[in-house]
Amino acid sequence: MFSNGVGCEVARADPIEKPGTLIVTAASLHLALLDMMRMPKLGNLVREGLQANRHDLMICIEGKGVNMSKDTISTFDVDARGFAAFSADAGQAVRFTDLEGAQPIDFWAFNRADIYEYLSCEHTKPAIEKVYPRLGDSAYTNHRRAVVTLIEDNSPGQHDMQFAACDVYRYRQLGWDEAKDGYHANCQDNLHRGLASLGLELPFTPQPWNLFTNFFLHPDGSFEIRTPATKAGDNMTLRIEMDSYIVISACPQDMNDTCGGNPTGVRAELF
Ligand SMILES: [Zn+2]
Repeated sequence: MFSNGVGCEVARADPIEKPGTLIVTAASLHLALLDMMRMPKLGNLVREGLQANRHDLMICIEGKGVNMSKDTISTFDVDARGFAAFSADAGQAVRFTDLEGAQPIDFWAFNRADIYEYLSCEHTKPAIEKVYPRLGDSAYTNHRRAVVTLIEDNSPGQHDMQFAACDVYRYRQLGWDEAKDGYHANCQDNLHRGLASLGLELPFTPQPWNLFTNFFLHPDGSFEIRTPATKAGDNMTLRIEMDSYIVISACPQDMNDTCGGNPTGVRAELF
Protein backbone atom coordinates (compact mmCIF):
# COMPACT_ATOMS: atom_id res chain seq x y z
CA MET A 1 0.00 0.00 0.00
CA PHE A 2 1.09 3.53 -0.44
CA SER A 3 -0.41 6.95 -0.34
CA ASN A 4 -0.29 9.30 -3.28
CA GLY A 5 -0.14 12.18 -0.84
CA VAL A 6 -3.59 13.58 -1.50
CA GLY A 7 -5.57 11.32 0.75
CA CYS A 8 -6.18 8.59 -1.80
CA GLU A 9 -5.00 5.26 -0.62
CA VAL A 10 -3.67 3.03 -3.31
CA ALA A 11 -4.17 -0.55 -2.32
CA ARG A 12 -2.79 -3.82 -3.51
CA ALA A 13 -5.68 -5.73 -5.01
CA ASP A 14 -5.89 -9.23 -6.40
CA PRO A 15 -3.07 -11.47 -6.76
CA ILE A 16 0.16 -9.93 -7.67
CA GLU A 17 1.66 -11.81 -10.50
CA LYS A 18 3.62 -11.03 -13.56
CA PRO A 19 6.92 -10.03 -12.10
CA GLY A 20 8.43 -7.34 -14.20
CA THR A 21 5.17 -5.58 -14.89
CA LEU A 22 3.39 -2.88 -13.03
CA ILE A 23 -0.28 -2.99 -13.98
CA VAL A 24 -1.76 0.44 -13.58
CA THR A 25 -5.48 0.97 -13.63
CA ALA A 26 -5.43 3.74 -11.02
CA ALA A 27 -6.24 7.23 -12.09
CA SER A 28 -4.64 8.32 -8.84
CA LEU A 29 -1.32 7.05 -10.07
CA HIS A 30 -1.41 9.69 -12.73
CA LEU A 31 -0.60 12.23 -10.09
CA ALA A 32 2.75 10.52 -9.79
CA LEU A 33 2.97 9.91 -13.53
CA LEU A 34 2.68 13.61 -14.15
CA ASP A 35 5.87 14.24 -12.23
CA MET A 36 7.52 11.36 -14.04
CA MET A 37 6.51 12.80 -17.40
CA ARG A 38 8.61 15.82 -16.63
CA MET A 39 11.71 13.58 -16.52
CA PRO A 40 12.90 13.19 -20.10
CA LYS A 41 13.61 9.46 -20.28
CA LEU A 42 10.96 8.18 -17.95
CA GLY A 43 8.55 10.69 -19.40
CA ASN A 44 8.84 9.05 -22.80
CA LEU A 45 8.15 5.67 -21.27
CA VAL A 46 5.08 7.00 -19.52
CA ARG A 47 3.85 8.79 -22.62
CA GLU A 48 4.29 5.63 -24.66
CA GLY A 49 2.42 3.65 -22.01
CA LEU A 50 -0.40 6.15 -21.99
CA GLN A 51 -0.71 6.01 -25.73
CA ALA A 52 -0.25 2.26 -26.00
CA ASN A 53 -3.16 1.30 -23.81
CA ARG A 54 -5.58 3.87 -22.57
CA HIS A 55 -7.57 1.70 -20.23
CA ASP A 56 -5.05 -0.56 -18.56
CA LEU A 57 -1.70 1.07 -18.61
CA MET A 58 1.13 -1.41 -18.45
CA ILE A 59 4.39 0.08 -17.48
CA CYS A 60 7.44 -1.92 -16.54
CA ILE A 61 9.13 -0.58 -13.46
CA GLU A 62 11.72 -2.38 -11.34
CA GLY A 63 10.45 -5.91 -11.53
CA LYS A 64 7.41 -5.65 -9.26
CA GLY A 65 3.80 -6.25 -10.17
CA VAL A 66 1.17 -4.24 -8.35
CA ASN A 67 -2.47 -3.74 -9.23
CA MET A 68 -3.76 -0.42 -8.00
CA SER A 69 -7.19 1.10 -7.75
CA LYS A 70 -8.38 4.55 -6.85
CA ASP A 71 -10.67 5.90 -4.17
CA THR A 72 -13.20 8.39 -5.41
CA ILE A 73 -13.95 11.15 -2.94
CA SER A 74 -17.03 12.56 -4.71
CA THR A 75 -19.06 11.62 -7.77
CA PHE A 76 -21.29 14.14 -9.54
CA ASP A 77 -23.79 12.71 -12.00
CA VAL A 78 -25.10 15.49 -14.20
CA ASP A 79 -28.35 15.02 -16.05
CA ALA A 80 -28.71 16.12 -19.66
CA ARG A 81 -28.70 19.96 -19.77
CA GLY A 82 -27.63 20.14 -16.11
CA PHE A 83 -24.60 21.36 -14.21
CA ALA A 84 -22.37 20.57 -11.25
CA ALA A 85 -20.28 22.90 -9.11
CA PHE A 86 -17.75 21.88 -6.48
CA SER A 87 -14.52 22.77 -4.77
CA ALA A 88 -11.27 20.97 -5.56
CA ASP A 89 -7.88 21.15 -3.89
CA ALA A 90 -4.52 21.45 -5.59
CA GLY A 91 -3.15 17.92 -6.01
CA GLN A 92 -6.56 16.31 -6.47
CA ALA A 93 -7.75 15.10 -9.84
CA VAL A 94 -11.11 15.05 -11.52
CA ARG A 95 -12.23 12.62 -14.17
CA PHE A 96 -14.97 13.57 -16.63
CA THR A 97 -16.95 10.85 -18.36
CA ASP A 98 -19.24 11.16 -21.35
CA LEU A 99 -21.83 8.61 -20.25
CA GLU A 100 -23.68 8.05 -23.54
CA GLY A 101 -21.33 9.47 -26.15
CA ALA A 102 -21.18 12.63 -28.29
CA GLN A 103 -21.74 14.88 -25.28
CA PRO A 104 -19.58 17.97 -24.68
CA ILE A 105 -18.85 19.39 -21.23
CA ASP A 106 -18.33 23.11 -20.74
CA PHE A 107 -15.65 23.40 -18.04
CA TRP A 108 -14.71 26.38 -15.87
CA ALA A 109 -12.14 26.63 -13.06
CA PHE A 110 -11.71 29.60 -10.71
CA ASN A 111 -8.99 30.32 -8.18
CA ARG A 112 -10.65 29.77 -4.81
CA ALA A 113 -8.75 32.70 -3.30
CA ASP A 114 -9.82 35.10 -6.06
CA ILE A 115 -12.47 34.05 -8.57
CA TYR A 116 -11.39 36.86 -10.86
CA GLU A 117 -8.46 34.59 -11.64
CA TYR A 118 -9.93 31.82 -13.78
CA LEU A 119 -9.10 29.37 -16.53
CA SER A 120 -8.66 31.41 -19.67
CA CYS A 121 -8.59 29.84 -23.11
CA GLU A 122 -7.01 32.92 -24.65
CA HIS A 123 -4.18 32.79 -22.09
CA THR A 124 -3.77 29.02 -22.42
CA LYS A 125 -3.24 28.95 -26.19
CA PRO A 126 -0.10 31.14 -26.25
CA ALA A 127 1.24 29.26 -23.20
CA ILE A 128 1.07 25.88 -24.94
CA GLU A 129 1.22 27.10 -28.56
CA LYS A 130 -1.67 24.80 -29.46
CA VAL A 131 -5.35 25.47 -30.11
CA TYR A 132 -6.26 23.33 -27.09
CA PRO A 133 -4.37 21.22 -24.53
CA ARG A 134 -3.36 17.66 -25.29
CA LEU A 135 -2.13 14.97 -22.91
CA GLY A 136 0.42 16.47 -20.50
CA ASP A 137 -0.53 20.08 -21.25
CA SER A 138 -1.90 22.47 -18.66
CA ALA A 139 -4.63 25.06 -19.01
CA TYR A 140 -3.71 28.50 -17.67
CA THR A 141 -5.47 31.33 -15.91
CA ASN A 142 -5.75 34.96 -16.94
CA HIS A 143 -2.84 35.44 -14.50
CA ARG A 144 -0.88 32.95 -16.65
CA ARG A 145 -0.60 30.26 -14.00
CA ALA A 146 -1.41 26.58 -14.55
CA VAL A 147 -4.81 25.74 -13.09
CA VAL A 148 -5.35 22.17 -14.38
CA THR A 149 -3.30 19.63 -16.34
CA LEU A 150 -4.61 16.95 -18.70
CA ILE A 151 -3.09 13.78 -17.25
CA GLU A 152 -5.20 11.08 -18.91
CA ASP A 153 -7.31 11.11 -22.03
CA ASN A 154 -9.43 8.12 -23.00
CA SER A 155 -11.29 10.01 -25.70
CA PRO A 156 -10.61 11.13 -29.27
CA GLY A 157 -8.92 14.15 -27.67
CA GLN A 158 -11.04 16.94 -29.15
CA HIS A 159 -11.30 19.59 -26.42
CA ASP A 160 -12.13 22.86 -28.13
CA MET A 161 -10.92 26.21 -26.84
CA GLN A 162 -12.33 28.44 -29.57
CA PHE A 163 -15.94 28.96 -28.65
CA ALA A 164 -18.03 30.86 -26.15
CA ALA A 165 -20.56 29.04 -23.99
CA CYS A 166 -24.01 28.68 -25.53
CA ASP A 167 -26.42 31.29 -24.19
CA VAL A 168 -29.91 32.65 -24.74
CA TYR A 169 -28.67 34.81 -27.60
CA ARG A 170 -27.17 31.82 -29.40
CA TYR A 171 -30.45 29.93 -29.29
CA ARG A 172 -32.38 32.99 -30.45
CA GLN A 173 -29.89 33.33 -33.29
CA LEU A 174 -30.59 29.72 -34.28
CA GLY A 175 -34.36 30.35 -34.29
CA TRP A 176 -35.51 29.59 -30.74
CA ASP A 177 -38.54 31.67 -29.76
CA GLU A 178 -38.90 31.86 -25.98
CA ALA A 179 -42.44 33.26 -26.23
CA LYS A 180 -43.52 30.19 -28.16
CA ASP A 181 -40.94 27.57 -27.19
CA GLY A 182 -40.23 28.47 -23.55
CA TYR A 183 -36.89 28.51 -21.78
CA HIS A 184 -33.92 26.86 -23.46
CA ALA A 185 -31.30 25.61 -21.03
CA ASN A 186 -27.83 26.96 -21.85
CA CYS A 187 -24.28 26.66 -20.57
CA GLN A 188 -24.02 30.32 -19.59
CA ASP A 189 -26.99 30.05 -17.22
CA ASN A 190 -25.63 26.74 -15.94
CA LEU A 191 -22.35 28.43 -15.04
CA HIS A 192 -24.03 31.17 -13.05
CA ARG A 193 -26.39 28.73 -11.34
CA GLY A 194 -23.40 26.61 -10.44
CA LEU A 195 -21.55 29.58 -9.01
CA ALA A 196 -24.65 30.62 -7.08
CA SER A 197 -24.86 27.12 -5.57
CA LEU A 198 -21.40 27.81 -4.13
CA GLY A 199 -22.47 31.23 -2.87
CA LEU A 200 -20.57 33.01 -5.65
CA GLU A 201 -21.45 35.60 -8.24
CA LEU A 202 -19.59 36.74 -11.32
CA PRO A 203 -20.79 39.60 -13.55
CA PHE A 204 -19.55 38.04 -16.78
CA THR A 205 -19.02 34.64 -18.40
CA PRO A 206 -15.47 33.49 -19.10
CA GLN A 207 -15.05 31.36 -22.20
CA PRO A 208 -15.26 27.73 -21.10
CA TRP A 209 -12.88 24.96 -22.03
CA ASN A 210 -15.16 22.77 -24.17
CA LEU A 211 -14.29 19.17 -23.31
CA PHE A 212 -15.23 16.45 -25.83
CA THR A 213 -16.23 19.19 -28.28
CA ASN A 214 -15.53 18.62 -31.94
CA PHE A 215 -15.30 22.06 -33.50
CA PHE A 216 -13.09 20.87 -36.30
CA LEU A 217 -10.48 23.33 -37.53
CA HIS A 218 -9.28 23.16 -41.12
CA PRO A 219 -5.79 24.27 -42.17
CA ASP A 220 -7.28 27.23 -44.05
CA GLY A 221 -8.79 28.59 -40.82
CA SER A 222 -12.35 27.56 -41.50
CA PHE A 223 -14.11 25.18 -39.16
CA GLU A 224 -17.06 22.85 -38.87
CA ILE A 225 -19.26 22.09 -35.88
CA ARG A 226 -19.06 18.33 -35.94
CA THR A 227 -20.74 15.73 -33.77
CA PRO A 228 -18.27 14.71 -31.02
CA ALA A 229 -16.50 11.44 -31.78
CA THR A 230 -16.69 10.35 -28.13
CA LYS A 231 -18.33 7.00 -27.35
CA ALA A 232 -20.18 6.06 -24.17
CA GLY A 233 -17.70 5.85 -21.31
CA ASP A 234 -14.97 7.95 -22.91
CA ASN A 235 -13.29 10.06 -20.26
CA MET A 236 -10.45 12.42 -19.49
CA THR A 237 -8.74 13.35 -16.23
CA LEU A 238 -7.44 16.71 -15.09
CA ARG A 239 -5.04 17.27 -12.23
CA ILE A 240 -6.00 20.29 -10.15
CA GLU A 241 -3.01 22.66 -9.95
CA MET A 242 -4.49 25.31 -7.65
CA ASP A 243 -7.29 25.30 -5.07
CA SER A 244 -10.28 25.85 -7.33
CA TYR A 245 -13.99 26.11 -7.74
CA ILE A 246 -15.06 23.93 -10.64
CA VAL A 247 -18.27 24.33 -12.64
CA ILE A 248 -19.33 22.04 -15.48
CA SER A 249 -22.31 22.14 -17.78
CA ALA A 250 -23.66 19.24 -19.83
CA CYS A 251 -24.15 21.35 -22.95
CA PRO A 252 -27.86 21.54 -23.92
CA GLN A 253 -27.19 22.45 -27.54
CA ASP A 254 -29.79 20.61 -29.64
CA MET A 255 -30.04 23.01 -32.56
CA ASN A 256 -26.86 21.94 -34.35
CA ASP A 257 -24.36 19.06 -34.21
CA THR A 258 -22.48 20.22 -31.08
CA CYS A 259 -24.05 17.34 -29.11
CA GLY A 260 -24.99 15.26 -32.13
CA GLY A 261 -28.52 16.69 -31.80
CA ASN A 262 -29.16 14.79 -28.55
CA PRO A 263 -27.88 16.28 -25.26
CA THR A 264 -27.17 13.62 -22.62
CA GLY A 265 -25.68 13.31 -19.15
CA VAL A 266 -22.09 13.31 -17.91
CA ARG A 267 -20.20 12.36 -14.75
CA ALA A 268 -17.45 14.06 -12.78
CA GLU A 269 -15.42 12.12 -10.21
CA LEU A 270 -13.14 13.92 -7.79
CA PHE A 271 -10.31 11.94 -6.21
ZN1 LIG B 1 -23.56 24.75 -24.30
